[in-house]
Amino acid sequence: MLSRQFGRETVNYFSSSPLNRLSFLRADHPFLSAALKHPSTRFVILKDLAPLTKSPAELYCVQYEEVQKLVPVTIYDKSEEEIIKEYDSRRTSPQLVFLGLDESCKQGGLSWKIYTGAPYFALDVTPKGSEEQQANAKDVLSALEAKELSFLQARVAMTFSADEAAIYAQARALIDWNTRNTFCGTCGHPTVSVNSGTKRACPPIDAARIAEGKPAERPACNTRTTLSNLSFPRTDPTIIVAVISTDAKRILLGRSKRFPPNWYSTLAGFVEPAESVEDAVRREVWEEAGVTLSRVIIHSSQPWPYPANLMIGAIAQVSDPAHEKISLEHDPELEDAKWFDVQEVEEALRVGTSSLGEKAGPDYKEGGLRLPPPTAIANQLIRAATNIDLFAGDNNSKM
Ligand SMILES: [Zn+2]
Repeated sequence: MLSRQFGRETVNYFSSSPLNRLSFLRADHPFLSAALKHPSTRFVILKDLAPLTKSPAELYCVQYEEVQKLVPVTIYDKSEEEIIKEYDSRRTSPQLVFLGLDESCKQGGLSWKIYTGAPYFALDVTPKGSEEQQANAKDVLSALEAKELSFLQARVAMTFSADEAAIYAQARALIDWNTRNTFCGTCGHPTVSVNSGTKRACPPIDAARIAEGKPAERPACNTRTTLSNLSFPRTDPTIIVAVISTDAKRILLGRSKRFPPNWYSTLAGFVEPAESVEDAVRREVWEEAGVTLSRVIIHSSQPWPYPANLMIGAIAQVSDPAHEKISLEHDPELEDAKWFDVQEVEEALRVGTSSLGEKAGPDYKEGGLRLPPPTAIANQLIRAATNIDLFAGDNNSKM
């Protein structure tokens, strides 16, 4: 019924991971310990957040033997309670995140209770932490580099298949969040990774304090006395919107100074505290372009792991031609905003799309409108806005 009414679901790049995250097993150390060593297990490797690849189009996932030197086999032997109770900030371990189970891999996969598949972890091999950990990381790195693998250096990695992109997005977002939150935001003391890399705790004791002649107990911290005694990964909601004119014959697009010539895109901005998604859409479009919107509908969303955004895509319409007047005077964020005829936008979707910094297709004529590629939600929103059937996604929909 819903698909008949609203069309097929748009599945945006970086979303719809093939992994079953099994979030309820993240504190189950016997499960994680079995998963760590299983022959079907794969590790997504990141160094300074750059993913290990075979080529720019393909992630290279390693097996446990290749990272054993850095990840001791005993890493999940103790329970979370024991790890927190025996915490010593002088001992460091590499950041490991359990990503989930690839259930398409039944043959030879790990079976745990009713779940079977190939476990996936993310591992940060950036040399850091204790001297021993740094030396081990360097050994693992030289062994990988000897295999002619490389870490993909790209501002935004958009060259993987849809499945690999979704796995990499999860790995990158969580490794980045852990890297940025090694100290408690409330008391300033070091935190410890728990829940297989998806939460961080502020331990009440630190054995390292004894060496400094202090009691092992740390000063009180609010994060230990309230219900939310952990820190959780952050996701920043962002709105992004394709705006339709009153007569539905034009689409509002804007450009920032960093865009190449003739390049325009949808308007976007962060959702602020105590603001609905619809209100954020109306505020951003008014602030950046001076246009007043009426109805706002949510179209689809896209995880954007640079570093932790969730792009919430909307289509909106102006209900009165008097509200279409563009003004860049409020917030000088955009260099230009313009109404484009639907026909011109449709032509640009055919011939003028590419990633930022890349050339448009062979049929593109110099001076024509240029737009973001289909991997960007902006493209999907513009496509939907040019279509009478607003909610019909593109052909990569799985739903
Ligand atoms: Zn604290």
